[in-house]
Amino acid sequence: MKSRLIRLPGLEGQAPGVPRGEEEVGRFLAALVILCKEPAAAAMQPPEAGRPVIQFRHCGRDIYCFRVPDLCPVCQQPVSFRKLDEAPVSIATPLIHGHQEQCVFLLRPTRGTFLRDYDGNADLHVGITNTRGIVYNYNEQGVHRDEVGWEQSISIPLLQPNMFGLMDQWDKYLEDFSATDAWSPNRYEEHCHNCYTYALTFINYILTSEGKHQLDKDEFTEKFVVPKTRRASKYITLYRAIEEHGFYIIDHLDSDTNLP
Ligand SMILES: [Zn+2]
Repeated sequence: MKSRLIRLPGLEGQAPGVPRGEEEVGRFLAALVILCKEPAAAAMQPPEAGRPVIQFRHCGRDIYCFRVPDLCPVCQQPVSFRKLDEAPVSIATPLIHGHQEQCVFLLRPTRGTFLRDYDGNADLHVGITNTRGIVYNYNEQGVHRDEVGWEQSISIPLLQPNMFGLMDQWDKYLEDFSATDAWSPNRYEEHCHNCYTYALTFINYILTSEGKHQLDKDEFTEKFVVPKTRRASKYITLYRAIEEHGFYIIDHLDSDTNLP
């Protein structure tokens, strides 16, 4: 019953300075699958934004944690920040509260959340928000208009900040588009007429109305989705390591120049 509808290429790629263990998550995100089996219960998951991640630098390492410790976990010396570049900074999460986003493409696990549940074999689901953060998404039951359940999503903006005219029409376009027969339950087909088809067809409908060229699935995936999922995979690795060990440490190759 499970099918692999789409694979996102390039997730195994290692960027310089990538945290240890990312390879593992890279592998599990390499198996990204988009499927539209959407149990009603999945949308009822409690909101979960995750805890903010903080990064600071000490004794030549980047240390990630939820709370700056009194003693450095590497050198066991009291943590003090003598240089500006050692001071703690919070890491922006790539996992976004989807219902607070206007006119974006969203991606999340079909069941559960990325941080808590995503194991690499899980199916993913996509949708598009209107200007009030309602997530329109399509599955074998037809089009849904979700007001909860997308609190921890990967988000891809679909509008430039200056496109006010289009934004005014967005909700009507999305509603009219979703009301067509193309997205009735009986038209659903898990390989080629699914949540991704629905979202991408809407994106192309908008692009056409703006006189722009359309995007095919591969182009959209590689250009817009993969960079975001790659970043999310690093973050999930980091987050789970902090949950397990209390912190996560990255050595600098050039640590000599960073010693305090
Ligand atoms: Zn230290």
